[in-house]
Amino acid sequence: MIVPDSRRRWLAAAVPALLMLMLAPLAIKRLGRLPQTPAATQAAAPMPSPVPASAAAGSGSETPNIKINAARAMQYVREVVAFGPRPIGSEAHRKLEAYLAAHLAGMTIERDDFTASTPNGSFPIHNIIAKFPGTKPGVVVIATHYDTLMRVKGFVGANDGGSGTGLLLELANQLRTGKRSGYSVWLVWLDGEEAVRQWSATDSTYGSRHLAEGWQKDGTIRQLKAFLLADMIGDADLNIDHDQNSTAWLEDLVYEAASKLGYQSHFFARTIEVADDHLPFAKAGAPVADLIDFDYGYNNVFWHTPQDTLDKLSPKSLAITGEVLLETVRLLDQK
Ligand SMILES: [Zn+2]
Repeated sequence: MIVPDSRRRWLAAAVPALLMLMLAPLAIKRLGRLPQTPAATQAAAPMPSPVPASAAAGSGSETPNIKINAARAMQYVREVVAFGPRPIGSEAHRKLEAYLAAHLAGMTIERDDFTASTPNGSFPIHNIIAKFPGTKPGVVVIATHYDTLMRVKGFVGANDGGSGTGLLLELANQLRTGKRSGYSVWLVWLDGEEAVRQWSATDSTYGSRHLAEGWQKDGTIRQLKAFLLADMIGDADLNIDHDQNSTAWLEDLVYEAASKLGYQSHFFARTIEVADDHLPFAKAGAPVADLIDFDYGYNNVFWHTPQDTLDKLSPKSLAITGEVLLETVRLLDQK
């Protein structure tokens, strides 16, 4: 699972099959895992056909008037980024925690606080959970991470860390307006997603590994109908990838939600394998889907660089992701 200097692997579908075959043994040695062939990518690509609205979501299910306040979501991202680099253990990280707490005041909040031992020593980690009760037994989690990369100087993580954090604050505004009919929704701001030194199974996803383990121990994991993750979803050129490490039926449901809202052109043009905060929850037994656009600038050139700045982002992308997340929850309610 260890990939030098990269936490996620993908293979462009355009690589000729022959070249792939020639390179495969090398790649296996380096990555310790067989890369997807273009054929496999094609075969695995989701092919959800447009479903008639009447058949799609059961009885009496019109597409609801889901509206994310895009400008407000963007303003949150701007405020989050204004704290500067926000790696675990930093003063800016503490300020962001206080900022989140201030926004979530009056809501039902739980925290998962612990100390993580990392290759750079011990760090306090704080997962923040906002709970919005529903009428149906069961929980849908919508999560993101709010820490930023430590090892790149001047990294402010507008997209990677900032976009999801701001979007979930806007989702909190949407969800706090009253008891929802359907599953309970928990918004989770995960901490310590980024590697302290280099991405590996033990140096990464500190917060999600701890929370998933805790939920497995206390049985909470069995209540989870779905774990939806939003990471790097603010890119103005929004292309959410289809993730083979996510649960297939839940990915299909996300695509159905995107199609119902007319956003399908922003979804699943490419199939990749993503290592991210969803994996510990998948391992614990929950259905998971990672909404991530891992093509941030040409060839992902802005990822984990000081170029991950606000000017690359669009309020519309935040709104698209937020509306698809809420529509996915609505479709889950009806299952
Ligand atoms: Zn990152």
